[in-house]
Amino acid sequence: MSAIRIAVEGCGHGTLNAIYDSIKRACKINRYPPVDLLIIGGDFQAVRNLRDLNVMSCPPKYRALGDFHEYYSGARKAPMLTIFVGGNHEASSHLWELFYGGWVAPNIYYMGAASVLNFRGLRIGGLSGIYNERHYDHPHDERLPYFPGEIKSVYHVRQYDVFKLYQIEGPVDVMISHDWPSGIEHHGDLNELLRKKSFFKSDIEKGELGSPPARSLLNKLKPRYWFSAHLHVKFAALVDHGKSQEEGEEGEMVLIQGKGKERAVSPVEKNPDELDLDMDLEGTAETKVVNQDEIELDPDEEPGAAALKGEDEIELDLDQHSSETAGVPLGNMVLEVAKAGEPALAAESEDARAGLAPPVGPVVGLADKNKVTKFLALDKCLPHREFLQLLTIPITKSWPGLSYDPEWLAITRALNPYLHKHPSALNSEAFRESIGPMIAGERRWVEENVVAKGKLGIPENFHITAPIHEGSPTAQEDRLPESYVNPQTTAFCELLGIDDGTRFAPGSEGKEERYRSFVANGGGGYPRGGRGGGGRGGGGRGGRGMRGGRWREKKGVCS
Ligand code: 5GP
Ligand code: MN
Repeated sequence: MSAIRIAVEGCGHGTLNAIYDSIKRACKINRYPPVDLLIIGGDFQAVRNLRDLNVMSCPPKYRALGDFHEYYSGARKAPMLTIFVGGNHEASSHLWELFYGGWVAPNIYYMGAASVLNFRGLRIGGLSGIYNERHYDHPHDERLPYFPGEIKSVYHVRQYDVFKLYQIEGPVDVMISHDWPSGIEHHGDLNELLRKKSFFKSDIEKGELGSPPARSLLNKLKPRYWFSAHLHVKFAALVDHGKSQEEGEEGEMVLIQGKGKERAVSPVEKNPDELDLDMDLEGTAETKVVNQDEIELDPDEEPGAAALKGEDEIELDLDQHSSETAGVPLGNMVLEVAKAGEPALAAESEDARAGLAPPVGPVVGLADKNKVTKFLALDKCLPHREFLQLLTIPITKSWPGLSYDPEWLAITRALNPYLHKHPSALNSEAFRESIGPMIAGERRWVEENVVAKGKLGIPENFHITAPIHEGSPTAQEDRLPESYVNPQTTAFCELLGIDDGTRFAPGSEGKEERYRSFVANGGGGYPRGGRGGGGRGGGGRGGRGMRGGRWREKKGVCS
């Protein structure tokens, strides 16, 4: 049996140099072999140039180009394969170009709005964005030029993508979401969480912390691991699915409001999304989630929990080794080694090392009827924060590189025609009954046209689309990004024989003109780039997003 060594980071927030530097030094100090894969849980900020900053939802204070553009231009190369999901602070039009997933830079892969992929036999799923009830039933219809409201709605999770993930039947090893699955706080040390983040208390009491659809996916997919970010705190939890089932917590998919069956987890009527709170939604929150096993739960004492926390844990104070190169000094990292003294990765064949052996045959994850999901949320990369976790996951099969997942490809083929339809189309009993056979049919197509032809490996076809950044990182730039058709998306759609859903959205015809007249009438005014530079800031003023007094306060601790 061999193993994969993974580093998990909470939010990225544009600090790639410090993250890579931290991993390198953590490995060195702990004599931990180089990691094979880095997972970043969103707020990645794949900002290619200053124009991209104008579609990133972000308080002016944090509006900065960050490190990513150097990886995009080729000035730096990611030292290890890095995959990430989107969060709520993103270069959103860049990520939209890669709706189905793709390389944002060499060695850095965005998982798309939702996807499942395979890395050396480890099956990894991801859901991008954060949950907001208001846009859950919207199609992905935001197209450049974005109106101010679209800069925020564009990263809200859509039922369409949750529906796709919900169709997965094969076992999933790792799931990644930016916001936490609702109610997860009740499966770990809640008191400790509240000690660190006392202001979560009222949301937790109302059952409003986290994402209901992410929780329904957790209950349905039962992955071995679930990694999240967003709340800027380390938190480990253990969900015992056997117990949850007994207590009637089986995952029913979260449906759009008023359609289909009731949701299995507490609906969030209020927006958990920082600045964007519509006050008129407040006070309508309903019942609290959940399973009462939690508060006393000590993950150390649960079977299997040692892999998250326990005797293998090594506490490091890396402040003694200040990182000049990274620009951001490193804080404490808690590192975990799944098994002390674990042997190095088993020898691979020469072909595999050279990347010559393409993955063939159906890809099956390791997780077989997982009884428990180990959940871990991490902080962002700052001094004295717990932002990084190293772990070793044993695998039974191994092949090189990153590959598409046949079941996911089949789901994508079956559901791509519904991308621009209202999700009520997905919620009828008749549709739900027909979707299984439809996916099975597409699975045969995928076997014949992708798997049998040796096309399951994800091609290394990164392309520069938007111009690379040149000049001062704080220069003034008021223009929105241009819209680009990413050749990776074109290639993916050709592989699957589907229409490219990023190109066009019903209702986006004539948008440029509508936008011009909006600007001519005094609209627009996106905050400009540059730390501390607020720009004109007119875009949000009076817009529906900026009224949340309570959240504006909390925002003081964000990002
Ligand atoms: P971001 O970097 O995504 O803007 O913000 C993350 C921060 O927002 C977290 O540190 C947390 O304080 C706050 N936050 C985000 N969502 C929630 C929520 O649903 N409830 C509470 N109480 N805080 C939240
Ligand atoms: Mn976030």
